[in-house]
Amino acid sequence: MKYAFAKRIRHLQSSAIRDILKVVGRGDIISFAGGLPDDELFPIEGIEESFAKVFESGKKSLQYTETEGYLPLREVILERMSRKGITSYSAENVMLTTGSQQVIDLFSRVMLNPGDVILTEDPTYLAALQVFKSYEAKVVAVASDDNGMLPDDLERKMKQYKPKAIYVVPTFSNPAGRVWSLERRQQLLSQAEKGNVIILEDDPYGDIQFRQDETYTPLAALDDGTQVLYTSTFSKTAVPALRTGWVAGPFQVIRMMAQAKQANDLHSNSLSQQALYQLCMHFDLDAHIQQLIRVYESRMNMMVNCIEQANIDGLRFVKPKGGMFLWLELAPEINTTALLPEAVEAGVAYVPGEPFYADVAQKNTMRLNYTHATPEKIEHGMGLLLDLLKEKSKN
Ligand code: PMP
Repeated sequence: MKYAFAKRIRHLQSSAIRDILKVVGRGDIISFAGGLPDDELFPIEGIEESFAKVFESGKKSLQYTETEGYLPLREVILERMSRKGITSYSAENVMLTTGSQQVIDLFSRVMLNPGDVILTEDPTYLAALQVFKSYEAKVVAVASDDNGMLPDDLERKMKQYKPKAIYVVPTFSNPAGRVWSLERRQQLLSQAEKGNVIILEDDPYGDIQFRQDETYTPLAALDDGTQVLYTSTFSKTAVPALRTGWVAGPFQVIRMMAQAKQANDLHSNSLSQQALYQLCMHFDLDAHIQQLIRVYESRMNMMVNCIEQANIDGLRFVKPKGGMFLWLELAPEINTTALLPEAVEAGVAYVPGEPFYADVAQKNTMRLNYTHATPEKIEHGMGLLLDLLKEKSKN
């Protein structure tokens, strides 16, 4: 049988990099490739107790529910967002979703026609690029530096492309681990306002903040509730398996996304939502996040120390102030995509930078995750990787 798939599936094809990394999970290779939290730190007892509490409330907890999700959890989220300065919303402006990944999908579904332009940072989150492309949107990357999108290039591309939307991860981005300056955030907002363009602000990592003496104000906190659609998730702060994220934004957009979600899955897993509500009520999630921060920061420091000691020609990085990723730029002649099989052969894996670029890729880059591997594995794995990079930088 020859299956007559829709044209748009051409955007869903597997990549060579993904095929290599699939093998990594099976062997005893040390992987800095995945974007995984450390499972040793998952609050398993708290989650177990939370589910027990949900079941105590009886059979009603197992019923269908409204598309927007479990109201008490939406109220907890409102309170948590208000601590970040996001105060222009009420419960009707918040919808619970199957991770923030679903928000990217629903947003694209209700906003993007084939051929519409969406502007992104450069580089940006790979799985968002895949979603935008699956809706046949044209993704245009705005030149970006360590502080965020370059305002001149943004202005130029706004004029040239008349974009429909802008997608950004301003706080501890994936892959670059970047945090935007306040000035760049304000510049983006004012340019988006001028051009009447909606911004999707993706903030899965904002709570994993190492420096307590700095404040990174979300775009949604600088906005009056009209220009920005904000999404975040419990995947990094609690656990990814509960698949619970949320979107907050202008009611008209949330309502349209709720209609799209109805067609998609009626509602997200409401047992997860009820359990997360119980977790927020009976377990100290903030203390848990502080523990994650301590562990992740010390692993990040360890990785950074290994790199600094290796003293490799042409290597550049910015020490992350939070999040889960360290982004390396290497000497221009090093192609990290081509190097990956060799690294895997040597016993260590990373994600090459190439797929994170919408247009022209900077192939001498790589993303390293420091949250999943133990300190011993970080030390050993970085030794293997840095030896390989040293050898390549000499050639
Ligand atoms: N956005 C970004 C930038 C991410 O890194 C991730 C997770 N890899 C997501 C969204 C999706 O996370 P989830 O669906 O688990 O909430």
